[in-house]
Amino acid sequence: MPEETIFSKIIRKEIPADIVYEDDRVTAFRDINPQAPTHILIIPNKLIATANDVQPEDEQTLGHLFIVAAKLAHDEGVADDGYRLIVNCNKHGGQEVFHLHMHLLGGRKLGPMLSR
Ligand code: 5GP
Repeated sequence: MPEETIFSKIIRKEIPADIVYEDDRVTAFRDINPQAPTHILIIPNKLIATANDVQPEDEQTLGHLFIVAAKLAHDEGVADDGYRLIVNCNKHGGQEVFHLHMHLLGGRKLGPMLSR
């Protein structure tokens, strides 16, 4: 089993977070250090450490992340103008929390995809 992170505590509501969506597979909450007017983290309730650790049985849950992302983008009013979904993996990807998560960023023009 991978080691739990602070995100497991957020899922279990042991520490506070601004949760904007939850169901039996997925939890979404606002990033504590937002990089855009809308910055939400969408995470599987199952602890998957990184994108490298995804298993075939996770396919439905991870597909569900996109369904929830599209719903939240609509709810936040950023769907039409557009937004960015990011999953960072390990050191070169800049991953800091080792519980797989999708960033939903929007509410302003986000600029080039990568810093140069
Ligand atoms: P990563 O770099 O791993 O893709 O992104 C981790 C994200 O989690 C960062 O954007 C960071 O601000 C956010 N984060 C880290 N700890 C907490 C926390 O305790 N609560 C919330 N809401 N966000 C957190």
